[in-house]
Amino acid sequence: MSDCLFCKILDGDIPADIVFESDTAMAFRDINPQAPTHVLIIPRQHISTINDISAADQSLVGSLFTAAREIAAKEGLSDDGYRVVMNCNEAAGQTVFHIHLHLLGGRSFDWPPG
Ligand code: AMP
Ligand code: ZN
Repeated sequence: MSDCLFCKILDGDIPADIVFESDTAMAFRDINPQAPTHVLIIPRQHISTINDISAADQSLVGSLFTAAREIAAKEGLSDDGYRVVMNCNEAAGQTVFHIHLHLLGGRSFDWPPG
């Protein structure tokens, strides 16, 4: 998608602090971090929202979680814990319409979220 910010990061047209790459996914640090570790994990394939995920994407979407597990371990978050979040559409606060997992760690989090 030519007008998608995260596709531009995937294409190298916009710089990012990349922390993970695989055949299916890529992860980079959030530009406006909400925790000491705040990483965004995105599929290489453009999917706008969770509503657009199909059955054929199950393995691709699963790979975002295995990436989260690997990055959390690398960042030293596995034992203390961390939060993984994906927002869907405006009411949930989605602002970039290329699905992404937020991996947040390094502090405690409230529940329920605001
Ligand atoms: P969401 O609100 O769930 O769609 O999350 C979008 C996230 O993308 C926000 O946390 C932003 O801070 C982050 N973001 C926006 N632009 C960039 C960028 N150029 N590089 C890294 N993160 C970004
Ligand atoms: Zn995209």
